[in-house]
Amino acid sequence: MKDKHYLMIPGPTPVPPAVVAAMCAPMIGHRSEDFQALHKNIVAKLQKLFQTRNEIFILTCSGTGGMESAVANTVSPGDKVLTLAGGKFGERWTELARQYGAEVIEEKITWGTCVDPQVVEERLAQHPDIKVVFATQNETSTGVVNDIESIGRIVAKTPALLVVDGVSGVGGIEIKVDEWHIDILTTGSQKSLMLPPGLAIQSVSPKAWKVIEENKSPRYYFDLLKARKQYAKWNTAYTPAVSLFIGLNASLDLLFEEGLDNVYARHKLLRDATRAAVRAMGLQLMTEDSCASPVVTSVYAPEGIGADDIRKVLRQEFGITFAGGQAQLKNKIFRIAHMGYAGKMDVMVAISGLEMALHRLGYPVELGAGVRAAQQVFLGVQQ
Ligand code: PMP
Repeated sequence: MKDKHYLMIPGPTPVPPAVVAAMCAPMIGHRSEDFQALHKNIVAKLQKLFQTRNEIFILTCSGTGGMESAVANTVSPGDKVLTLAGGKFGERWTELARQYGAEVIEEKITWGTCVDPQVVEERLAQHPDIKVVFATQNETSTGVVNDIESIGRIVAKTPALLVVDGVSGVGGIEIKVDEWHIDILTTGSQKSLMLPPGLAIQSVSPKAWKVIEENKSPRYYFDLLKARKQYAKWNTAYTPAVSLFIGLNASLDLLFEEGLDNVYARHKLLRDATRAAVRAMGLQLMTEDSCASPVVTSVYAPEGIGADDIRKVLRQEFGITFAGGQAQLKNKIFRIAHMGYAGKMDVMVAISGLEMALHRLGYPVELGAGVRAAQQVFLGVQQ
């Protein structure tokens, strides 16, 4: 038998059987009343998840498409924008904004650390003409979660918009769009939302609409004004990924059945167990506890062992896939996702597999040390 596979990367993530089953439903027309009812129902659930009264658009594209939509609709050539770049996805905001002709002030944040909100306040004071601040809720490349609430409080006092990439965090990490003053929150289907890739979902605030209405950048597929016209009738401008909409409805039901507070607490528990296990194995975590992501944990490979060799043994011998490091972190770190459809025993599989892979590669790991540390976290017993 081919080894059973354990996909533990920060997207695409495993899809729950109930969601897979829902997506096998027969096709419906996207201009039908059935679709309109489905669309309306999903948006009401998304508004609960996002904690917003804003309109929410479900776009058929990957997460980056949603990011491009946010930029294309808010950035006109020559506009000054601030990007908070503490990883590959923060840098994507910089690249996108430059493509749309923005004058970009890129705040470089040391990878593995989170944004200091004070810096945002300083940059906005230095450049009162900043039109948009682009931030990342969960920086997947490093495993850092940023304090969007504090950043939002600062940006809200200025004319600037706050646009947040929630691609990997939304559904696993709490987000409060209205209370935290997020003008555009954009996310993706294939991560904490437990769906296959193919949808980007974004909310738009009244403050953002004013900018969007005056925006000069060319856009066609991603024109939110066109989307808004159709949204009024619960239609989409172009043919949506109907099956993914049906799946999204089912995955949102799973989140609400569990209860959002429980979902967020589960992810934090998985993070704590993973981090305790990594420490017990004598490995080094990439992030401080204070900004450690609840959905993905980045770990440095031990001295003299390539992170990609560890990943290779895990995959070939144990059927476990971890993600590697990106850009300058390539072969230096591996990333363990505990995102979306993930529970305690997924962490046990990940940690026990990691111990065996390290042993194979000659690292002096005490077999069972990481497993025991994770068990102690789950059982709530003293370490
Ligand atoms: N932002 C973040 C935080 C992400 O994790 C990702 C995907 N890894 C993206 C954006 C890009 O999404 P996609 O690959 O779906 O275009």
